[in-house]
Amino acid sequence: MQFGAIEAGGTKFVCGIGDENGKIYERVSFPTTTPEEVLGHVTEYFKSHDLQALGVGSFGPIDLNLQSPKYGYITSTPKPLWQNTNLVGMLREHFNIPIGFDTDVNAAALGELKWGAASGLDSCIYMTVGTGIGVGAIVEGKRVHGLTHPEMGHILVRKHPKDEFLGNCSYHQDCLEGMAAGPAIEKRWGKKGQELVGNDRVWELEGYYLAQGIANFILILSPQKVIIGGGVAKQLQLFPLIRNNVQAVLNGYIEHQQILSAIEEYIVPPGLGDNAGLCGALALANEAFYRSDK
Ligand code: ADP
Ligand code: ZN
Repeated sequence: MQFGAIEAGGTKFVCGIGDENGKIYERVSFPTTTPEEVLGHVTEYFKSHDLQALGVGSFGPIDLNLQSPKYGYITSTPKPLWQNTNLVGMLREHFNIPIGFDTDVNAAALGELKWGAASGLDSCIYMTVGTGIGVGAIVEGKRVHGLTHPEMGHILVRKHPKDEFLGNCSYHQDCLEGMAAGPAIEKRWGKKGQELVGNDRVWELEGYYLAQGIANFILILSPQKVIIGGGVAKQLQLFPLIRNNVQAVLNGYIEHQQILSAIEEYIVPPGLGDNAGLCGALALANEAFYRSDK
């Protein structure tokens, strides 16, 4: 079986060819310019392959309601050129095969659950900390959706008493994303995260905020694994800081050894590295293929 996978990001679209076992044979990427231009590249790339299904993990917000006339759309994104873009519809014009569709982070969570850090489990969350903060969740084997889909990157957090940064989320100012995504780090410290490697205060504060979010997600969803990816999470020194702060916030309340004594196995980087999203899109393609088969 051969599937096409698309990780549709706000910065770049990554496309790949792979199979039902999560093996990726090749990948390419295109900058996220205009929908017409990107879709032109994407269709040209996939046209030369014989595919049984396509899977798409997309930046959002997106419409996932199969009954909605806007199913498959990127809806109210802050990226003006992409507002109201019928992503799945544009692909359908060129490919008469099943197309699976979900958020980029739900796709990454699925990839990690099937073949990565959460394999063998039936729940996990996948948090990306990059240009924004997004969180995908799988609970009892199912990707979590709802009215639309969760937007856990925008939860409210307690300000650190010594942090004077006001936050930069254009909707909520000082939500988790507004305090801790890559652009918040850059605005607070005047340099990009990758240029602040040796500055301990940066990562202590970052760990403080990310841990608050994660502690809340643990309290709400009780995931069996917490996976953190995205550009900012390349700073591996963050992981011990996040783990310590999560333990401090939970304060022994959740009596499970994964939190009390094995937290280094519980809060982890992606097992699939940078392929989590693309592998997840392969899993979405696989699922769409079998759904259409019934
Ligand atoms: P995107 O979210 O657009 O898909 P990334 O996950 O690479 O892409 O996120 C980009 C953000 O992450 C930028 O704000 C950038 O400064 C930050 N970033 C990227 N790489 C690193 C790194 N190695 N260390 C710290 N911050 C990083
Ligand atoms: Zn927000």
